[in-house]
Parts: sequence; structure tokens; C-alpha cells
Amino acid sequence: MFANNLDTLLVYLKGVGPKRAELLQKELGVSTYAQLLEHFPFRYIDRTRFYKINQLNPDLPLVQVIGKIIGKETVGDKQKKRIVAKFADDTGVMELVWFQSLKWVDEHIVKGGAYIAFGKPVLFNGTFSISHPELENYPRQQGLTGNLTLQPIYNSTEKLKKSFLDSKGIQKLIQLILELHINEIRETLPGYVLEKYRLISRKDAYRHIHFPASAAMLQQAQRRLKFEELFFIQLQLLYNKQINSLKFKGAVFNNVGKKVNKFYNEILPFDLTNAQKRVIKEIRIDTQRGAQMNRLVQGDVGSGKTVVALMSMLLANDNGCQACMMAPTEILARQHYQSVVDLVKDDLVNVAILTGSTTKKQRTLIHQQLEKGEIDILIGTHALIEDKVQFKNLGLVVIDEQHRFGVEQRAKLWRKNNIPPHILVMTATPIPRTLAMTLYGDLDVSVIDELPAGRKPIDTRHFYESQRLRMFGFMKQEIAKGRQVYIVYPLIKESEKLDLLHLEAGIEQLSYQFSQPDYQISIVHGKMSNTDKQFEMQRFIEGKTQIMVATTVIEVGVNVPNASVMVIENAERFGLSQLHQLRGRVGRGAEQSFCILMSGNKLNPTSKQRLETMVRTNNGFEISEVDLQLRGPGDISGTQQSGTIELKVADLAHDQVILQEARNTVIEILNEDQLLDKPENNLLKNYLHRKNQGISFDKIS
Ligand code: ADP
Ligand code: MG
Repeated sequence: MFANNLDTLLVYLKGVGPKRAELLQKELGVSTYAQLLEHFPFRYIDRTRFYKINQLNPDLPLVQVIGKIIGKETVGDKQKKRIVAKFADDTGVMELVWFQSLKWVDEHIVKGGAYIAFGKPVLFNGTFSISHPELENYPRQQGLTGNLTLQPIYNSTEKLKKSFLDSKGIQKLIQLILELHINEIRETLPGYVLEKYRLISRKDAYRHIHFPASAAMLQQAQRRLKFEELFFIQLQLLYNKQINSLKFKGAVFNNVGKKVNKFYNEILPFDLTNAQKRVIKEIRIDTQRGAQMNRLVQGDVGSGKTVVALMSMLLANDNGCQACMMAPTEILARQHYQSVVDLVKDDLVNVAILTGSTTKKQRTLIHQQLEKGEIDILIGTHALIEDKVQFKNLGLVVIDEQHRFGVEQRAKLWRKNNIPPHILVMTATPIPRTLAMTLYGDLDVSVIDELPAGRKPIDTRHFYESQRLRMFGFMKQEIAKGRQVYIVYPLIKESEKLDLLHLEAGIEQLSYQFSQPDYQISIVHGKMSNTDKQFEMQRFIEGKTQIMVATTVIEVGVNVPNASVMVIENAERFGLSQLHQLRGRVGRGAEQSFCILMSGNKLNPTSKQRLETMVRTNNGFEISEVDLQLRGPGDISGTQQSGTIELKVADLAHDQVILQEARNTVIEILNEDQLLDKPENNLLKNYLHRKNQGISFDKIS
């Protein structure tokens, strides 16, 4: 790439200077012309639409009113001093108010003048007013912004506003850059792609996203920029995936041997669902190709991902390889260990567990056994990826509840063996298709879309605080039948103390409510030691306690089939996928299970919609889509930890079609031109070169 004027620092732009340049850097993270051009408007105001004064209502956002100043006076004094103008059209009179720059206003805003006033209408004592309106002479002047039909509105901050870089101020800077340098905005997509998808040029897209000539042009600009954004994410993912598969061999698992057969024919206590069988087959095919498998298994809560993982690990063992399984928390690792040990029962394989709380002595022993190849399956937490942990021949890594492991950590695992191990990633709950394509677009995807036969759908109800006694009554009824109950409290970091108080108050109320007959309560929360947590869990598992009160530590993986009621306190404070996952802790036994969502009496519309969704459906795939619609991709539970992709224009909740187009395009291109050697793909190759600097694949291998 040649040096480009658009890489100029903003400090050199007319009207910016060192102070504002520094502010722009600090507040918006932009320091060059190009970066400011990428600060896209977050919405637009239709400047062709005018309101009459009698059409105003306080719920309207920014409006434009055409009128005449029919009176003007200065009222109040000192701090309260302000100018109030009467502004009238043929339907009524409203007020325009200024608290600042009074001298200027007094001189320039004249009685009798006709203006277009623009701002947020507020109703006060029966009269509408706009504070600090933007005023334009009426009729409108011609000129670049005078012709604007859609006015861009930019994100700004208090500090920027103090330096006159409010939305309007930012607009002026962007306008200036575009006037001077628009012809230097270079195309990034090959011509044939533009043609095929009828995309406008990058240059035009930048012009019209900032200053749309019409709503139609704005739409075209957005489509072009969204396509570009998603296209390059896909290009990077799929190109890297392809390079991996060319470069990295994988162990060949072509032997279904004693371990898999014995487990499947003699030990497995149930029939696999068709979905489980299909996914295992996909894994079988993948692991025979001689290339490294990188596969994501999506399945709803309770769909039986553990068995799939276990059979894959046994397959590795049958082919002379070790396998390991990584879980995000200690509790979950222990649960997995327990279920694997329970499932394989006799001495079919040698299973070990390694976590942060493994004693030094045990740890040393495990390290030795691993190196000698005496351990077939190792289950644990992050402790597994420490450099000290060496395998004799690691063939498969299962990462459970993946979204807490980042791409970096995944890569670290690859280095655990000469031939990188196959990787199987399991999500805790389904994630929306668009998000999966974007976050895990370099993985092949398997879906377990079927629950084991005979599962009764969980009956979910929403109770308001005012119905609490009814909820207690229901709990008592179920416990009397011999069932056990979970009660989960939210725990939010910022107010841990408060939450703990809340939890304690809840426990006090419970002990009072359930003292007759004398029911026992287990308590597990984040402030307890692991030993104490485990002790309490164990009492509940053994049925010595009827009620388990917990913060979200039980969120993942806990399996107590006799627990058939899940009460979630302050359910409005949980995200949808979290609620769904918590609910998945019940419904594991033969009994009808229930989930009760407790909430305050007042709910905002989004919370209400979340709870209604939970009551309406048990389907995790559906829930994940609603979640995305309601919250946006950055907020989908768990994805923050894996370094969420930050999108500037595209929106995974609404741009499925464009994403699919972009992905298909990339697939077609790479099919035709694997290494992007054709001249028409030069732009793409250059892009990848720049992007992959610093994260080169040689480092990973
Ligand atoms: P998840 O997909 O949420 O991790 P698990 O693997 O924990 O689900 O399985 C949930 C429960 O269902 C476990 O008790 C497991 O033994 C059981 N299970 C798994 N597959 C089947 C099946 N095909 N038939 C009956 N029960 C099954
Ligand atoms: Mg699981």
C-alpha cells in the first residue's frame, strides 16, 4: 500500500488542533482521517419531515418545526437567566429556550424572523418547548448540508461536546475530509464481486453513509459497507481454515476398536438419538481424513453432548491416542469427571482429573502418568493448558461450554502435540446461526437437534413478587412429593455485597418458611471455598437436603435428576441464554419438572419479553435467536470473554442475508482460487497479508 492522505493524523485537519485531536483519540479511539470516516452515524433524522406545533407530542424524538419568532424576552437572573422566544405557526405557539450564549442569541435571533427550529420537544405546563434548538433560516439555504434530506447523527461524549464536537461538530469534520479526499477512498472488493451483488463503490458508500442523497442511497451505502465488513471477516476465517487444513495433519482414527465397541454394545445404558448418531458419524469421517478436525457441536441443554464427547475420546483411545476434556469451572470439570467415570464404570479406560485444586503430589503423579501414556482421558479446567502438562500422544481435545475459551487458548492446545490434536468444541446452549458463523466460522458445525426420547417439556411459569407465597406453597407441594428444588440468585460483580445480603435475606425467609416440616437447605455461592461448595453440593446430590440455594455457580453442568423445580430469583436480571441454561438443570429425571421465574412487580418491556419467551418455549435454538434480537451480539452471554467481534455497520441480528451472501462469495472465491493467486484477487491477498501480520500461522504450528 502507498501512503495515503487518509492516513493523515487528525491533528492536521483544519479546525482540529492538538487538544481536540487528543480528545477524539481518547473518547472515540480515532486518530486518522480514515478512522474518523469510519465513525459512522448511528442514526439519521429525516429533514424532509416537518411537524406542525399542534402535532407535537412529548414522545417524539428530534423534530423540525417551521415558524416565526413572535416575541422574545430575557427572564430569570444569575444561574437561571435565559432567553425565551415565542415561536408560532398557523396551528399554535411554542417556546424556544436558551440558557447559554445569551448575548449571541439576543443579537442574532430576531423578532419576526422565519426559521426552521430543530430539537427535542418537551411539554411543560401545557406548552411545548425546545431548548437550544438548531435554527436554520426559512426558506432553506442551498449548499451541501442545506440539501440534506437525512441528517446524520454521530455518537459523541460529554467531553467532546464541551469542545464543540457534538454530532454537528463531528459532521463538519467528516464533511471537510470528504470534500478534500473523497477520491482517495480506494476500492477493497474485486470488481466482479461488486457486479455480481450490485454493490456501489466504496467511495460512494462513504459519501452516502455520511451524507445520504436519499433514503435509497443510504440503504445502498449501508448494504455495501455491511457486505464488505462481513466479507472480510469470512475471508479471514475461511482462508485461515483452509491453510490449516493444508498445513496441519491430524491423527488418523480409522480403527473403531475394543473401547468404543465395548462401551457402545455393553455399557451405554440407553440408545443414542439419531442426532447423536449423526454427529458421531460426522466426527468419525472428520478424524479419518488425515487432517486436523476443528468442529463445533451445538446442542440444546440436555441433548446429550457428553456422551458424544466421551465416544469421541474413546475413539481416540482406540487409535493409540490420549484425549482430554476442558471445562470452564471446577464444579463442571468434577461433574464431567463423575459422569464419565460413572459411564465407563469398569477398567475400560484410565480417567484422571486435573484442576486448580489438585494437590501438588497428585499433580506430579498425573504429569508423570500422562507423559508415560498411562492416562487415557484427562478431564479438567484451564489447568490442562499449562505448559507443564505434557502428553505422550494427545489426539483429541474436547472443549466444553466453549464460549469461555478464546481463540488464543484453542491455539495453545494445538501445540500440545507434534501432530496437533483434533478439536471438538461444545457450546453450552445453542448460539444463533449468524453469531456462530462469525465467531466460529472457521469450524465445521454439527448440530444435535433432538432430545432423548421421553423427556417431558419443562413447565415454566412467571410469578411476580406479589405472588411469592404461592410460589412457596408450590415448592412445599413438590418437596412433599419427594422432589428437590433449586433456588438461584443473580450475582452481579459490581454489587457483590448487596447481592450477598439479598441472598442471606432470602435464606432467612426460606428457613422460616420451611422449618415446618424441617426441610434442609444447601447453600452454594461464589465466596465459599471449593471444599465447602463441594460438601454442600454433595449433600444435595445425596438427597440429604431438599433445597439448594445458589448463586449462578450451578449455571453449568450440574446434574441431579431428582431435582425437578428450578426457582430463579430476580429473573429479570438474567440474560435469556443464562435463564435457559439454568432451567436445563431440571427436567433430567422421569418426573414433570418446573421452572419458576420470580420477578419484581414492575418490568421493563425487554425483561418482560425475555420472561415471556422463556414461558413460551423450551427450544434453545429459538431462544438464542430472540436473545440476539433483544440484546445485540455483543451482549450474548459469554461471547464477551472470547473477544467479541466488533462490527461497525453490520448487525448480526438483522443482516443474516448479507452475511450468507458474503460467506458464499468467499467460499466460491476460495474454491476457484485457493491461494488467491489470480490477479483479480490481488486486493484480497493484500488484505490478508496486512491482517495476518503478527498472528502468523508459523507461530501456532
Ligand atoms: P448436555 O448436552 O446438556 O451436556 P448431557 O450430556 O449432560 O447434556 O446429558 C443430559 C442427560 O441425558 C444425561 O443424564 C445423559 O446421561 C442423558 N442422555 C444423553 N443421551 C441420552 C440418550 N440418547 N437417551 C437417554 N438419555 C440420554
Ligand atoms: Mg453439558
